[in-house]
Amino acid sequence: MKIGFIGLGNMGAPMAANLAKAGHQVTGFDTAAPMPPGVTAADSAECAAESADVVITMLPNGQILRAVADSIIPAMQAGAVLCDCSTVDVDSAKLVAEQARTAGLGAVDAPVSGGIGGAQNGTLTFMVGGDVSDFAKVEALLEIMGQKTVHCGDSGAGQSAKICNNMILGVTMIATCEAFALADKLGLDRQKMFDVVSTSSGSSWSMNTYCPAPGVGPSSPADNDYRPGFAAELMLKDLNLSQQAAEFAHADTPMGRMAQQLYQRFVEDEDGRGRDFSAMLPRFTSKGR
Ligand code: NAD
Repeated sequence: MKIGFIGLGNMGAPMAANLAKAGHQVTGFDTAAPMPPGVTAADSAECAAESADVVITMLPNGQILRAVADSIIPAMQAGAVLCDCSTVDVDSAKLVAEQARTAGLGAVDAPVSGGIGGAQNGTLTFMVGGDVSDFAKVEALLEIMGQKTVHCGDSGAGQSAKICNNMILGVTMIATCEAFALADKLGLDRQKMFDVVSTSSGSSWSMNTYCPAPGVGPSSPADNDYRPGFAAELMLKDLNLSQQAAEFAHADTPMGRMAQQLYQRFVEDEDGRGRDFSAMLPRFTSKGR
């Protein structure tokens, strides 16, 4: 397939490289990042998009996605599919899909879980919103970049699934860190705490797979001085999106709101920016008296 790939940062570059390695003809554009191996550079986003069967975008936020969509949709050939893999607000996802369909194009929102490691190893999870027929046109490409793809429903459903998942992640990471800080105060050994909780009803991905305590559980950013991994500011971005969606949909999400406030304080007023989101643990232990 001919693929246009726009946004070749930490995630987009390895994803595009995996598509090229699988034999697809990939033309890329990024305002700053260099081209990954196997990807041909285009002079503009429009040039990357104009002769593509599928255009994939992997951009920082909804505002940039909307601006890029405005410029590439008129350039794309009839019947081509716009596949946005960025994490953006549900509204932007729906708006861009509607704009693409009006122009005679297909469109799916297909945000990912799995981080930079997942992008490099082709083991991402894709959650997809859009028509089944558009999903069918991109499914084989998603399977190259990932190991699991779920069609979640109509346009916006992929972003909805993503922000609900990450709201759970933010809340469980905070709960796990709080519990470790309490265990410390109670004189409970962290390894014992892990051994019990990871096989009990308090278990979660945050505890079992991404344990925030250094030297405990499988290797995680905590063992690397909390270098990200998944940076606290990216968690804040996703919690902002889930709260924005909750307000719009009149959903009651008190734990999501509290997680958003804690990560906001951590990133903006404390030393959280640039640290992994599991660095909430040293944040809690430094606050206790
Ligand atoms: P990044 O900042 O490394 O990459 C974004 C790229 O987009 C940059 O290279 C930037 O130069 C480029 N860009 C910005 N404006 C552009 C424009 N107008 N035209 C072309 N290129 C433009 O970010 P990332 O970590 O690769 O994340 C990309 C998306 O994936 C985000 O929406 C993020 O929330 C989501 N995501 C990231 C992770 C992660 O662990 N990094 C995990 C899951 C989802």
